Amino acid sequence: MTLRTDHTMAIRIGIVGCAGRMGQMLMKEVLDSDGATLSGGTERLGGPAAGQDIGELLGRGKLGLVVDTDARALFLASDVVIDFTTREATVAHARLAAELGKALVVGTTGLEPAQEVVLHEAATKVPVVYAPNFSIGVNLLMSLVEQVSKVLDPSYDIEIVEMHHRHKVDAPSGTALGLGRAAAAGRQVALSDVAVRQRDGIVGPRKSGEIGFATLRGGDVVGDHTVMFAAEGERIELTHKAQSRAVFSKGAVRAALWAQGRKAGLYSMFDVLGLKA
Ligand code: NAD
Repeated sequence: MTLRTDHTMAIRIGIVGCAGRMGQMLMKEVLDSDGATLSGGTERLGGPAAGQDIGELLGRGKLGLVVDTDARALFLASDVVIDFTTREATVAHARLAAELGKALVVGTTGLEPAQEVVLHEAATKVPVVYAPNFSIGVNLLMSLVEQVSKVLDPSYDIEIVEMHHRHKVDAPSGTALGLGRAAAAGRQVALSDVAVRQRDGIVGPRKSGEIGFATLRGGDVVGDHTVMFAAEGERIELTHKAQSRAVFSKGAVRAALWAQGRKAGLYSMFDVLGLKA
């Protein structure tokens, strides 16, 4: 017997920033996912690939959908929109999602607190899944880091080292900051009170309780993160290495399918994966 996929039941997912590194991975993932259909993709005005056939952009032959620049039309044609773009674009997309009543999945990193407020406002009207890292492994790592930090006293110095490709514009990475928040939560302190985001020159000895960050950039590294707990006589290191961007797009599409039909609220990948205590 031949089974036929009923596309009328599929959740319509739109991708903004669709010609970007993540945008292209996300469109492939949607096209390959059961229960999802690609409603389209947008780019900024004058952006790469505007007007090009999406299938041809992905190297899969003509699909009959073109890279558009009309975000409003894409939101209207979608049940959920996935946004891995820039922080300014994400703010505009969050406002559109709230206005048009559409679920939103946000992977863009480096948002300023005032820009995050716009996500919080949108989340009072629609479901918004916002995560600095959509990989299942990194979210498990965050959960482990919080547990380890709860057990170890502040004589264990926490340092977070990350490396990413040379194109990345924000530092430390959103994931490194997320790991820092997990470590701080384990110690029941606010990361902003204990974070040392960079060191240069004569900075003096390390203060007890600090959570330090070190940032490396180069080549095509997709994303490496290590959290160290260093005491006198021993050191624990927890490491995650992403080898393909597919881990982020798989997690984001899973989040989009999960978000559709939920009540309004700001959710994380912990909610999607059921990792909340
Ligand atoms: P990229 O520069 O390759 O892609 C971004 C795309 O967004 C570009 O094609 C750009 O033209 C487009 N864009 C900009 N403004 C737009 C607008 N107004 N409307 C539509 N499109 C617009 O970058 P990337 O490597 O794909 O990363 C994008 C973001 O995702 C970054 O913030 C990055 O840190 C983040 N990221 C997050 C995760 C995660 O798991 N949360 C994983 C990887 C990357």
